[in-house]
Amino acid sequence: MIIAHLPVAYLAATGIRHRTKTPQMQTAWSLPMIACLIGGIAPDFDLLYFYTIGGRHINHHAYITHTPFYWACAATITFVAIHTISDATKRSRLRWIAGMFFVGILTHHVLDSFVGWLYWFYPFSDQKVGGFVVIPSIYSSWWLWNFILHWTFLVELTIVTAAGVVWWRSAFAESP
Ligand SMILES: [Zn+2]
Repeated sequence: MIIAHLPVAYLAATGIRHRTKTPQMQTAWSLPMIACLIGGIAPDFDLLYFYTIGGRHINHHAYITHTPFYWACAATITFVAIHTISDATKRSRLRWIAGMFFVGILTHHVLDSFVGWLYWFYPFSDQKVGGFVVIPSIYSSWWLWNFILHWTFLVELTIVTAAGVVWWRSAFAESP
């Protein structure tokens, strides 16, 4: 996936918000939403390393930033740390923000598994999981053409449109 990460994280966050009836989630929604959006793209920050120090030697999906196990560890440590906070209101708020960040991370990993693969079962197995759709390497002039001119890009555009419609409705149509 190239452009769908952010809109999918947005749709996931919006869906969770609509199903969550706590007043806190209805009034103080900005930070959990931002956390989810950041989580939706955070694993790809490793591209900075991939194109510089990493020298493009191995697929960035093999990095710890694209390995669910490490994010599960990070989530566990985060929630344990939050659990030690004595202020119940702050604890609840941080739980939501952290939770939405990791929801974003999860959406990223799921999307990356459709046209790519991830080590979903690491450290128990080194099996690459995913690759349900294979995008052939036809255009060598610019590797992105292979993605943009593949039918999966239409799916991405549909997701972007859907997120745009949902955003438009929440920003304008639903306002009093
Ligand atoms: Zn990725």
